[in-house]
Amino acid sequence: MDIIRQERHGVPFYSCNHPAWLGAPHGFSTRLGGVSPAPWDSLNLGANRGDDPANVRENFTRFCAAIGTDVHALVKNHQVHSRQVRPVTRSHVCLDPAAPGVFEADGLVTDVPGVCLTIFSGDCIPILLYDPVRRCVAAAHAGWRGTAAGIAAQAVEAMVHGYGCNPGHILAAIGPGIGPCCFETHADVPDALQAALGQDSVPFIRPSAAEGKFQVDLKGVNRRWLERSGLSPHHIAVSSACTACQLDEFWSHRIQGGQRGSMAAMIQLSTGELS
Ligand SMILES: [Zn+2]
Repeated sequence: MDIIRQERHGVPFYSCNHPAWLGAPHGFSTRLGGVSPAPWDSLNLGANRGDDPANVRENFTRFCAAIGTDVHALVKNHQVHSRQVRPVTRSHVCLDPAAPGVFEADGLVTDVPGVCLTIFSGDCIPILLYDPVRRCVAAAHAGWRGTAAGIAAQAVEAMVHGYGCNPGHILAAIGPGIGPCCFETHADVPDALQAALGQDSVPFIRPSAAEGKFQVDLKGVNRRWLERSGLSPHHIAVSSACTACQLDEFWSHRIQGGQRGSMAAMIQLSTGELS
């Protein structure tokens, strides 16, 4: 399975186009196709970045129309780099798409069709999960702290123990985020990953050219967490897009700091009969 760049109604997005994903409309946004002015130009989906809420609302409407999700059924968190995954239902839907999430968590899970799980990123790794057999979806935001804390595994755990999913049925899409090419760190990041994953972290950490620094592959580490949770390697799609390399298409917190918009990743269970 691959994650590919697609475009609908002038809005580019990334998603997994494999037929197995047909029952769960989903996508990863880019910075393109929206209405916001600089420095949020143009598809800013962040509610608390200083952008006009009217622009954020219009951007959500455009992005949801492009990927086939319901802009009136968004559920969001206030993301805090935790490993907490929140089970949600229609009662958690945010009526105004431009309103920020308030509940502190970094993952969302539901089995309610039509509820649109929404998480945010601007270098961090967005992860979407779908069990087409049990009909359950999850979304998680994994920065380096969440990656080390195993939020990806926590999201699978929430699906398995909260909803009765079989890990062997779960499909995963790891979206655009900062790549090992651009994620240079001090020893704190490799130390945290090794403390959590032991030898399993080694393939994803290498010394950088700079003395005492390292290049870390966060997407690879999250893939490893999902495999350890019982997902088939064949069910995990990983985007090769690096948000820090491709500033014409994405925002990067590392490169641009706070003067930027925010990307989102969304997934919902379809409500209609599958054709
Ligand atoms: Zn890069």
